[in-house]
Amino acid sequence: MALIVQKYGGTSVGDLDRMRNVARRALAARAAGHDVVVVVSAMSGETNRLLKLTNGISARPDQREQDVVVSTGEQVAVGLVALAIQAQSGSSASARSFLGHQVRILTDSAHANARIKSIDDSKLRESLGRGEIAVVAGFQGIDEHGNITTLGRGGSDTTAVALAAALKADACEIYTDVDGVYTTDPNLCKGARKLDRIAYEEMLELASLGAKVLQIRSVEFAMKYQVPLWVKSSFNDDPGTLVCKEEPGMEDVVVSGIALQRDEARFVARDVPDRPGLAARIFTALAQANIVVDVIVQTPSHGGHTDVAFTVAKIDLDRAREMMAPLAKELGIGAIEVENDIAKVSIVGVGMRNHAGVASKMFQTLADEGVNIRVISTSEIKITCLIDEKYAELAVRSLHAAFGLDQKRG
Ligand code: ADP
Ligand code: ASP
Ligand code: MG
Repeated sequence: MALIVQKYGGTSVGDLDRMRNVARRALAARAAGHDVVVVVSAMSGETNRLLKLTNGISARPDQREQDVVVSTGEQVAVGLVALAIQAQSGSSASARSFLGHQVRILTDSAHANARIKSIDDSKLRESLGRGEIAVVAGFQGIDEHGNITTLGRGGSDTTAVALAAALKADACEIYTDVDGVYTTDPNLCKGARKLDRIAYEEMLELASLGAKVLQIRSVEFAMKYQVPLWVKSSFNDDPGTLVCKEEPGMEDVVVSGIALQRDEARFVARDVPDRPGLAARIFTALAQANIVVDVIVQTPSHGGHTDVAFTVAKIDLDRAREMMAPLAKELGIGAIEVENDIAKVSIVGVGMRNHAGVASKMFQTLADEGVNIRVISTSEIKITCLIDEKYAELAVRSLHAAFGLDQKRG
């Protein structure tokens, strides 16, 4: 008998029939003799609807109250899924729902982007001990002061993996609307191919570079606690993709996947005085405002000045602009330029470590399509290029073909 955590995303609980499908799958795992914890997201579209409400009241809603509102989507979903399991099994003793604070998923107080600090597994163990399927609300937790917090968009993945780690589960299964992790977003590129396995490190890069199939923190947890993590479809019985430790042979493939992140904005701080501490001032100010800064590039010093370019998500653009204006004055920065409509396209693969010519192939492929590269950033297993958003899909498709990832047609 194993302990399995199953997580169902928004589309998988999108209506009552789909919730019945979730109930059927959870009960099948239970009937096979397993202990089952089900984590659910809000019904699809619900979190966006709730955010629209809070933004309708205020352009900058208080984050504590916003979390009170947006966490309700998951409350509705856990109640309905627990009811669906009870209805199908004919027993009210077969399932019980839990909100984040009822489990006691303790987080820090960074509203809208909280991090899990600890999980008390006692209530869930008691529930499983009674033979129930425990249905846990994803995305939400509670801080040490008793405030409701949420874990950032896509955060139910992280709830599931963190629970699997805390319960030392035998497997964590993420059920979604695609069959697994693909070489690139299958909704963007018809040639995308499903991967049977992917290394934690590669998945971490893909998730952080825009592949929203898993929230990045869920992959961090899985890697840290070695949770066997599966991505599967809730609509069929395909075995899906296993996210696991790097295995021999994985390096034979140079590029495993391609990620795309739209809706970025690029800042360039021109003529920044080349003194110690200036980059620290800029990025500390942005971090304190909870603005996540992405690709950062600094040019070599020219006449005692440098240029510093960085990207932020478009939703943070206005706040970042407001922060940078007074800072520019104070620090003697020449000018702040902002560019909208930037996309980030990245190739990822552990095989890059020992293959030459990968970067030049990426740049040549983009050049052949007439795509101008704005900024380049690399690490051991990824290369990222910032490009104009209008070329985003073209870039993904041509790189997918160039690196031999397209599905073989038989
Ligand atoms: P859920 O609501 O189940 O959490 P998400 O919408 O958050 O689902 O994530 C699933 C989506 O991730 C897919 O529909 C797909 O469009 C997108 N996606 C992006 N990159 C990839 C990839 N490399 N492999 C699979 N899906 C991807
Ligand atoms: N409902 C939340 C969101 O839409 C969390 C999740 O789906 O994982 O972001
Ligand atoms: Mg998701």
